[in-house]
Amino acid sequence: MQFNYIANAAVPSLSGKTIAVVNPSDGQVFDEIQRSTAHDIDVAVRRARDCLELVWCRLSAAERGRLLMRLSVKVAGHAEELALIEQRDCGKPTRQARADALALARYFEFYAGACDKLHGDTIPYLDGYSVMTWREPHGVTGHIIPWNYPMQIFGRSVGAALAAGNVCVVKPSEDACLSLLRVAELATEAGFPAGALNIVTGYGHEVGDALARHPGIDHISFTGSPGIGTLIQQVAAERHCPVSLALGGKSPQIVFADADLDAAIPAIVNAIVQNAGQTCSAGSRLLVAEAIYEPLLARLGEAFENLRVGPAAMDLDMGPLIRQSQQQRVWDFLSDAHVDGIPMVAQGQIVDEAPEGGFYQAPTLLCDVPPGHRLMQEEIFGPVLCAMSFRDEEQAVELANATRFGLAAGIWTRDGALQFRMARRVKSGQVFINNYGADGGVELPFGGVKSSGHGREKGLEALHGFTTLKTVAVRHG
Ligand code: NAD
Repeated sequence: MQFNYIANAAVPSLSGKTIAVVNPSDGQVFDEIQRSTAHDIDVAVRRARDCLELVWCRLSAAERGRLLMRLSVKVAGHAEELALIEQRDCGKPTRQARADALALARYFEFYAGACDKLHGDTIPYLDGYSVMTWREPHGVTGHIIPWNYPMQIFGRSVGAALAAGNVCVVKPSEDACLSLLRVAELATEAGFPAGALNIVTGYGHEVGDALARHPGIDHISFTGSPGIGTLIQQVAAERHCPVSLALGGKSPQIVFADADLDAAIPAIVNAIVQNAGQTCSAGSRLLVAEAIYEPLLARLGEAFENLRVGPAAMDLDMGPLIRQSQQQRVWDFLSDAHVDGIPMVAQGQIVDEAPEGGFYQAPTLLCDVPPGHRLMQEEIFGPVLCAMSFRDEEQAVELANATRFGLAAGIWTRDGALQFRMARRVKSGQVFINNYGADGGVELPFGGVKSSGHGREKGLEALHGFTTLKTVAVRHG
């Protein structure tokens, strides 16, 4: 049984209710988390506020940095343990779960070093004045986190918020709490004062909603689906609470005729297979120059057929999807493809060892998908790559921008001028040229445009989002 983690202690929800935790690799229940309510959020926010006003605000930036660095070392030292927890909870193959744990350690390391380098400016002004800006923390920040990369998203948002001088109340996804509850214990071991980092588990419409509405929350960082992002922004608007939204994507991989296909093919496959396609920045639309459309699809088809899917512990190319409803969602999209006569180029294999009850889906390559079809417009959030061809640069730009999303884009060409023209014209928060994802570096600001959200996380840029700027003008004559 897992408990909430509030003010350095494991505490049951006041509701007395729990939610079953299911292993996606076999569909079996193996643990329980607390089904918390608004009361538990209220307790966590009060304890966070006490910590902020009595302890946290008195720490120097360098002392905060040392705490974050100690937590980074703790997380790195427990990376294998955290990876195994994540593997069982979220169905991540071992290498991906381990990479997430190490990325979490890296986020804390990066933001530890940033604590005492965050400062304002002085502004030349009228004679007789001295003017400066101070970067101040919002106060108590609320963090609502999805299930697809719990550790990484926790690291990038909570790491930056703490570094900027805030204290945090975190609501993880009901499908992915266990690793974060363990990290909160590690924070206590690292010396965090009670109340600086609090985790309350439960359903989004209950406890997530309560967190977003709580008047003691000074900033909300939401990562999740566009629909819930809209609700969060509406709720926050009622009390003018600042919000950052990191939402979905339908990101294009744009392959020109002169591209280095030996480099592009593994990257295109990885960008849709990683985490079973349940990645906000998955490269889920493949736009290919007519001249190489057929040969590229043939090579990609071969690569897809070689992909193996199985239990997370087997550490194959792909594990299961997170839950049965996600599996059903992918099946619904594939059934639409079938009904609408969209050709399937290739599928990977689910291995015989995969238990019956697991939520498996073979990676699937579809071609000639019409640009207006919902397969090309909506986030499937599964291992389905939809391909179509383009005539020329103009049409490539038009198709790349023809969804409501704008999270990431991959551009594959050896032509330097074309690389820059495309990077300028594609509407998205990130553009990757002759790579996809740039190994996910924590240093690189990340976020979306259009329905992919607003605000930036990761990198030093995130610190600006977790602070507010105060202008101080002194008249001294
Ligand atoms: P989701 O929107 O269903 O849930 C996200 C979080 O919001 C969960 O903790 C959930 O419990 C909570 N929630 C649900 N209803 C709520 C409500 N009414 N009020 C407050 N909180 C509520 O998303 P998901 O299915 O967990 O995650 C997948 C989505 O997240 C995809 O759209 C994906 O693209 C997106 N995502 C975006 C990024 C990014 O950086 N842009 C990163 C990861 C995931």
